[in-house]
Amino acid sequence: MRDFDTIIIGAGHNGLVCATQLAKAGQRVLVLEAQSEAGGLARAREFYPGFKAPVAPAAHHFSPTVARALGLEQHGLTLAPAAPFSALAGDGTAPRIVRGESLSGASAADSAAWPEFRAQLQRFADALEPSWHKTMPRIAKGPVKSLLPLGQVGLRLRRLGKEDMREFLRVFSLPMRDLVDEHFEDEALKALLAWDGLIGSRMAPRSPNNAVLMMLYRMASQSFCAGASLMTALGQAASAAGVTLETNAPVASILVAGDSDGQRAAGVRLASGEEISAARVVSSADPQTTFVKLLGVQHLEIGFSNRIGRLRCNGLVAKLNIALDGAPNFDGLESASGRLLFAPSLDAIEFAFDASKYGEYSEHPVLEASVPSLETPDLAPAGKHVLSAHVMFAPHALRAGWDEAAKADLAERALAVMERSAPGLREQMLGHELLSPVDLEQHYGVTGGHWHHTEFALDQALMMRPTYEAAQYESPVAGLWLCGAGCHPAGDLTGMAGYNAAQEVLA
Ligand SMILES: Cc1cc2nc3c(=O)[nH]c(=O)nc-3n(C[C@H](O)[C@H](O)[C@H](O)COP(=O)(O)OP(=O)(O)OC[C@H]3O[C@@H](n4cnc5c(N)ncnc54)[C@H](O)[C@@H]3O)c2cc1C
Repeated sequence: MRDFDTIIIGAGHNGLVCATQLAKAGQRVLVLEAQSEAGGLARAREFYPGFKAPVAPAAHHFSPTVARALGLEQHGLTLAPAAPFSALAGDGTAPRIVRGESLSGASAADSAAWPEFRAQLQRFADALEPSWHKTMPRIAKGPVKSLLPLGQVGLRLRRLGKEDMREFLRVFSLPMRDLVDEHFEDEALKALLAWDGLIGSRMAPRSPNNAVLMMLYRMASQSFCAGASLMTALGQAASAAGVTLETNAPVASILVAGDSDGQRAAGVRLASGEEISAARVVSSADPQTTFVKLLGVQHLEIGFSNRIGRLRCNGLVAKLNIALDGAPNFDGLESASGRLLFAPSLDAIEFAFDASKYGEYSEHPVLEASVPSLETPDLAPAGKHVLSAHVMFAPHALRAGWDEAAKADLAERALAVMERSAPGLREQMLGHELLSPVDLEQHYGVTGGHWHHTEFALDQALMMRPTYEAAQYESPVAGLWLCGAGCHPAGDLTGMAGYNAAQEVLA
């Protein structure tokens, strides 16, 4: 039987980050990936002859700490300042934020309010930044020093001064709507500013909970890179560190050795039937897949398996990829580069969310689009382009079920929304594909097709992510660890969960 120090399940970006760290520390590491290529949700796949697109086309806050630790620059990765983010309201206007800093296309009053609003949020984001890279303490267990990360965050917040600290405590669980309403008047701008607190989550502008926290997470290290170049650099770094990567190698189950008094993960069984042993197994698959499908609840204590079963994993984002005959033009914008928001107001987002509560998608979906072939020309034939859109809110559990008719209908609605700001778009279309959350689940092996593998909400965050027994990356089953988006801090292409998990394994 083949034997390794560590087997990593899944070659998404977090799996590769974790594997590379462990291999650099001298471990013999095997990464097993179910698909034909590494990359997870950032893997580009052909959706129309000659046109490719990843589900996650760009990293907007990939961690510079992780990039440095893995030497990704030597493998061709360049982290650029935040991509421009524009709100296309459908009336020819386009408020736009460039490099995460400067605001254009806004009214005089909104332009005047922007610098202090942004500066204060950035101070909050900077104060929280180290906590995304730290293992959260165990609740009511473990050495006192494990509380240090929380103490450090508290200290950094106190150092902000009385006014800022009070304001942070007031706003961190505030609905996005209340936060932006206090400062701004233009509806399209307000939608733009609220979006990063909402995208990927079951969260609308009026929802209290964690939208502001999510926004601060995304502001912590605003650094842009194309998903494709990130995956190339990660693949090269893994190979240079000596990681063995096997694709087309779905793991069917995690092997457990010992009896009910002392069980530990001992390796994996592949779908091919081969068994491979290892001192530990680290899974970047989502927590429900890891514990329910691959391990089996018979190996778990009932309270823990109930908590894993109750995780909220139903995704709300559909992916629309469009093959275009040329670069698209958008009203009010000189170039289609960066992120484009099609949500004319906070109410438009709220109404689109309302439909999803009842198992429907909206007549007027809201969406974020980009043209990733501008940064990665290989995604399309010369002179042609790919438009990639995240369509919100498309519930995994669609009441009528996801069939071809439902997908065609949602694609048509999303297209109608975009056409208001891109009148020639339909004529440029050569073909398209819409992936519902159910398709994402089936093609990418993520329960519910969820952006963060499991919802990022206050009860599933920090030392409770994914549950308080597994929040330090090590699970209650000895030798079985987690390292994917379902761990602290959360999803997005940041590399942080994989990096933090490796630090814990090595500790
Ligand atoms: C529609 C959509 C759009 C998104 N857009 C963006 C974006 O633009 N920017 C951004 O930052 N984030 C985006 N995200 C979020 C981001 O893609 C995820 O949070 C991130 O990919 C999680 O990375 P990961 O490595 O933890 O997991 P994944 O990328 O999901 O990788 C997990 C890997 O494990 C493999 N695997 C699972 N089970 C097994 C098994 N049994 N055996 C072997 N292998 C297995 C899978 O095949 C996969 O390769 C988006 C998400 C969605 C759903």
